[in-house]
Amino acid sequence: MTAETLSSFFYPKSILLVGASSKPKSIGYEILKSIINFGFKGKVFVVNPKSDEILRIKCNKTIEEIEEKISLALILVPKNLVFDALKSCALKQIKNVVVVTAGFREVGGEGAELEKQITEFAKSNGIRLIGPNCMGLINTDENVRLNATFAAEVPRYSPVSFLSQSGALAAAVLNTISLTGYTFGQFASIGNKADVNENDLLEFWWKDEKTKVITMYLESFENGRKFFELANQITKEKPVIVLKAARTKSGSSAASSHTGALATQDDIVDCALIQSGCIRVKTIEEMFETANSILNLKKLNGKKVAVLTNAGGPAILCVDEIEKQGLEISELNETTKNKLREILHPESSIKNPVDMLPGADATTYRTAAKILSEDENVDAIIAIFVEPVMINAFDVIAQLAEEQKANSKPILIVTFPLPHFWEKWKQNGIKDSVILKSVELAPVIIKNLYDYHFRKDLKKEFVDYLNDKSKNTIQKLIQNVKANFSESTFLSSKESYKILSSIKLPVTKSKFFKTEKELNEIANILNYPCVLKISSRKFTHKSDVGGVILDIPDKKTLLKSFEDLRTKLRKRNLLSFIDEFEVQEFFEGDFEVIVGGYRDRTFGPIVLFGSGGKLVEIINDKNLRLSPISIDDALDLIESSKIYPLLKGYRDFKKTNINLLAELIVKVSQLMYEFDEITEIDLNPILIKAQKIKIVDYRIRIEQRIRDNNQ
Ligand code: ADP
Ligand code: MG
Repeated sequence: MTAETLSSFFYPKSILLVGASSKPKSIGYEILKSIINFGFKGKVFVVNPKSDEILRIKCNKTIEEIEEKISLALILVPKNLVFDALKSCALKQIKNVVVVTAGFREVGGEGAELEKQITEFAKSNGIRLIGPNCMGLINTDENVRLNATFAAEVPRYSPVSFLSQSGALAAAVLNTISLTGYTFGQFASIGNKADVNENDLLEFWWKDEKTKVITMYLESFENGRKFFELANQITKEKPVIVLKAARTKSGSSAASSHTGALATQDDIVDCALIQSGCIRVKTIEEMFETANSILNLKKLNGKKVAVLTNAGGPAILCVDEIEKQGLEISELNETTKNKLREILHPESSIKNPVDMLPGADATTYRTAAKILSEDENVDAIIAIFVEPVMINAFDVIAQLAEEQKANSKPILIVTFPLPHFWEKWKQNGIKDSVILKSVELAPVIIKNLYDYHFRKDLKKEFVDYLNDKSKNTIQKLIQNVKANFSESTFLSSKESYKILSSIKLPVTKSKFFKTEKELNEIANILNYPCVLKISSRKFTHKSDVGGVILDIPDKKTLLKSFEDLRTKLRKRNLLSFIDEFEVQEFFEGDFEVIVGGYRDRTFGPIVLFGSGGKLVEIINDKNLRLSPISIDDALDLIESSKIYPLLKGYRDFKKTNINLLAELIVKVSQLMYEFDEITEIDLNPILIKAQKIKIVDYRIRIEQRIRDNNQ
């Protein structure tokens, strides 16, 4: 299904209300009233068998009675009548339907069943359906003027499109729109997402010429992998801003690997959004103000911020936030300081933040902002104005807003005026300016703009490290295991070892054996000291059952250790769970790291890197990316880890081979991406000493049934 099939939701030529009511305060009445009051440019039709006329619109008894063509229908009838109404819409060839009525999947049981039926019916009749359980649509474009919601207030137009999964949240935004002044053009509340979901709208707004910024409030992802892939393309052309409620604590609690246990659903969402170039925001205010800033501020070229103020406290809070966001406080050059000295009160503070004291008037503010913008150490300016008695707030903000438009660098205005200012500004202020009400928000927005532009231009090069030969080997091995196990299973150490070696990962040298006789032979050709381990599909952590014996100095001790280990396992009735034993070289690393892979139900394959070893869950150094990743992604991943300062060399620890480590991560990411059956990979630990990297423990889990993340 293509994006064009959604067009009539936002650009309908005619609209039909099924279930319009003559009772004020009922939804069926209020929505009709909104449509009429907002001045919809198309034709309005109403079906209500009991009334002749509602709000001066003639009522039809049935849908069939209407002769004209209808592009969009809104179904508002009680739940048990929705299916019939939808069938009539189908007969009338209506291809876009919004079901506002609630009581479907959200109540479970029969409601869920009914939702399934109407969704299937809509799909088989080529109808695109929004809802059920939603609040409707808005398009404030002058040529459309659609307000098909029961909200009395609508925003002023701007080329921002807004999706809300929650009707109540959308109502909250609309109810307060005259106070907040947020602007947007198209809006859809998608309710239960029976058919149309965030991915459809993402695609539609991507192609929609009227949309310049996409904003979304989401509580869940219908198909995270598809969202990720779409967003990857879209954010190169249009910004996508997402406010995601973190409602799921841990989507991966069922996982048995370290990687699965570490990566919560919210971490994965975070990583999917950041990696695909979306801007993830924490509040409604941040979402709309970021959108507004993208539209109305000049392009940001760097991280250096200057603060201009007439009050100390707010500027200090602002500077704290600039630092917290990882931005820089501009170091003003001497010319700038001299120019400022000439125009400011002698007791003003000339160094950044520039405190002009309460006497600074409109002209001073504007001139100072201009001077700051000419400094090459300034990439953006935050101008804070707290209204003092002797200065007129309107003049100051108007001058700053003019400068915001004229200047080639972004200027964010933060103001704390007396209440009557806002009324006056609404009437006579300068439209499309960015005026914030919070000092802490300004740096957050600058960071959002910086990240957006920086990530948008990132070029990614994907190198394929898996050749056909290794792919074949791995595929065969997996098929073999699948044939012998009905459920999901861990591979044995030997199988995992084979997979990793086939793609030339630096696995430490290992030998596998079952009997004492075999060990006797192996022991003659081993390098000492060595390590003896059990291998079992059953135990996640071998050392928990005493199954790892380290630093064995010679053959004699090895044979003795083996004997002791077997006796111990037999006593605990564990011997039958052991598939085989493993001896490997003992390698004393300086650090232990983990590289892992995990397959998320909705976002698909991910990779993880961080500080590893037995304490991995305690250290919680989790750095994630969705597969596939480029070498640059992998380097980034390493750099963002807690252990990175050690890896790049610290005191007597030598610098690690970071490129080799990055290549290793890319290979694991490719394994996850190429082989749907692999659900988890844990390489923990990978031991590191200077240039040497050795994988000493490996665990790979495969699943019989390939998980479907592309329903
Ligand atoms: P587990 O299944 O318990 O995770 P590992 O194979 O990871 O078993 O071994 C436990 C710990 O023993 C590792 O975290 C590491 O510190 C150490 N270790 C394991 N193999 C080696 C080795 N070949 N050389 C040095 N130390 C090792
Ligand atoms: Mg381990």
